[in-house]
Amino acid sequence: MPEPSVAALFDLTGTTALVTGSSRGIGRALAEGLAGAGATVVLNGRDTVRLERTRAELADRFGEDRVRAYAFDVTDAAAVDAAVAEVETGVGAIGVLVNNAGVQHRVPLVDLDVADWRRVIDTDLTAAFLVGRAVARGMISRGRGKIVNIASVQSDLARPGIAPYTAAKGGLRNLTRAMAAEWAGAGLQVNALAPGYLATEMTQALVDDEQFTAWVVGRTPAARWGTTADLVGPTVWLASPASDFVQGQTIFVDGGMTVVV
Ligand code: NDP
Repeated sequence: MPEPSVAALFDLTGTTALVTGSSRGIGRALAEGLAGAGATVVLNGRDTVRLERTRAELADRFGEDRVRAYAFDVTDAAAVDAAVAEVETGVGAIGVLVNNAGVQHRVPLVDLDVADWRRVIDTDLTAAFLVGRAVARGMISRGRGKIVNIASVQSDLARPGIAPYTAAKGGLRNLTRAMAAEWAGAGLQVNALAPGYLATEMTQALVDDEQFTAWVVGRTPAARWGTTADLVGPTVWLASPASDFVQGQTIFVDGGMTVVV
């Protein structure tokens, strides 16, 4: 059999890709990248106004039939199961899932409320289990599927003030391995991307903080903040046949932050 062309290896035409938390920021950029590679993308978020605005903007670029939006809370197990079932009947079998929705909460650990601890763990860790479980059931029955979990350099490094985030992202990295171990034999690939500091709404206050920005630039061999665009290529790669033998890995996309001391 002839080798597939390089372009074919990255072609997502005919694939339905669900990207959680894609009404803005990284998720939106990843959805645009996947659509650019040919996928039909399903956007998600809780704010229906923001979600619809993003859907309309992407539909202008890629066409109404290639961009859909489903508002649901990724921490709500029943809502997740219902939304995934609706997507599979209304749009198509989900071939790619990007678990991207996430929240940050900055407060010293001794002052942290248990409700805020739970909210971060629920959103940044448990939701990947909930959405992953719901989507994997279909993927397993079809014998193929790609899951990309968006972790963070905080899965490997710790900074004061963001303990639940660090705990959740470390857990997500190991959940990625656990999912890969359970589902690889069924034909699924599960991997994670660990971004460094990227300028988005989540990090806007840090971008605006000159001292913090000086720290990021000094701590990163690439000597700059990352952008959402930096994550698009790695995501398309992990979502495409080009990465079929990559399994259970966390790829750091951090300008080298985690390789220097
Ligand atoms: P943003 O805050 O800009 O966007 C977060 C997205 O997630 C929004 O679309 C938001 O929509 C959605 N979201 C949040 N909670 C829920 C929920 N319970 N259910 C459904 N959707 C939800 O964040 P970023 O784009 O910066 O971050 C995206 C991911 O990348 C996160 O997992 C984050 O931890 C990770 N990351 C970010 C880095 C950075 O420097 N920015 C670095 C490393 C990792 P809505 O509020 O309407 O629900």
